[in-house]
Amino acid sequence: MHSYPLYYEQPYQKTHTATIVDIIDGNLILDATICYPEGGGQSGDIGTISGVQLLNTTKDDDHTIHHHVKQQVFHIGQQVNIELDWQHRFHFMQMHTAQHVASGLLFTRFGIQTVSVHQGERILTIETDAASVDQEICFELEDLVNAVIRGNHPVHYEVHTRTSAQSLGLRRSIKVEGDGVRLVVVEDVDTVACGGLHVANTSEIELFHYSGQEKIRGHIRLIFTVGQMARQQIRKAQDAVTELGVLFSAPLEDLVEVAKASVAQAAQTKSELRRAQQAIASLQLSSLVAHAPLVASIPVVYWNVPQDIDMKDVAQAFPEHEDLLLFAAKMVDGRLLWLVGVQGKASTLFDFNTRKSTFLSAIEGKGGGKAPLFQGSAKADSAVFFSTCKDLMQ
Ligand SMILES: [Zn+2]
Repeated sequence: MHSYPLYYEQPYQKTHTATIVDIIDGNLILDATICYPEGGGQSGDIGTISGVQLLNTTKDDDHTIHHHVKQQVFHIGQQVNIELDWQHRFHFMQMHTAQHVASGLLFTRFGIQTVSVHQGERILTIETDAASVDQEICFELEDLVNAVIRGNHPVHYEVHTRTSAQSLGLRRSIKVEGDGVRLVVVEDVDTVACGGLHVANTSEIELFHYSGQEKIRGHIRLIFTVGQMARQQIRKAQDAVTELGVLFSAPLEDLVEVAKASVAQAAQTKSELRRAQQAIASLQLSSLVAHAPLVASIPVVYWNVPQDIDMKDVAQAFPEHEDLLLFAAKMVDGRLLWLVGVQGKASTLFDFNTRKSTFLSAIEGKGGGKAPLFQGSAKADSAVFFSTCKDLMQ
């Protein structure tokens, strides 16, 4: 079943009264519609149908247009009133027209072909065939498209036979089958075959803004914002720069350098802090070793590690001692982190591997390691951990 596409004749029509001729999977099929169905990189129309939210418009293989409504409260034969979300539709018409202009100029001025396009809710992307596109080219393109916008170029349609369309030597191959090829002509700028919707004059695009690029499948994808979204994007970027300027107390021209220096300074401070923390852990362990009781002339240390010392630093400080039996524990986020260090002759006092399963089950813990260092976590508290260690000593 074909639904009559009024949107080609009347792309600016915002409301229309239609008759429901079928309901398929809860979607309304109308005799004629102003709703553009998703396709060609352009999203489907949204709005309301007799007050019920229209979530999307799609087209099936049979060219039947499906109106996806939020609630199915309709019956076949009913007359309904379509109201488009005009802001949404118009933005897509602006983006689509801007894309023709940009792709046309990319090709004629820079020899760059368009591989694919996508129009999102906020951004327009053009995937090019180029492996790199210099920023100067992107800014030049932005200026050229904005000049076309100011130049008030009319946009019109021509229907051609396949042969006559092909004889025009268009930048893009014709993808549709058969005759009746619909050409979109941005006068003096670009002509391609296209089934999408466009504004009637380039001045309606309002503003074209280059917003960045990314690499995809070895190609550069250019990112743009158009019209109202371009204004919003520029203001958002301006706000961010102003806030960063206040944060770093720097004027615009120095901002990047000041921010870079500040990030480098923070990284240096962080690494100095790490070294200081390691030194504190090392000093505290040395002090504990110096005052520890000796068992068979080997110091045995039970260390309830304070919150400001990291277990990593305890593990790093431990090998500085020749003969040492160390039992260390610390509560982190309600769980006990434990460490058993058996250095040098201490292996005669505590053989971790033969005691491992008894030890882990007593502290309800897990973990392990390789001599001289064993580490893990446990449900038990530090008192249970230390008494278990004491019990398991030889
Ligand atoms: Zn188009």
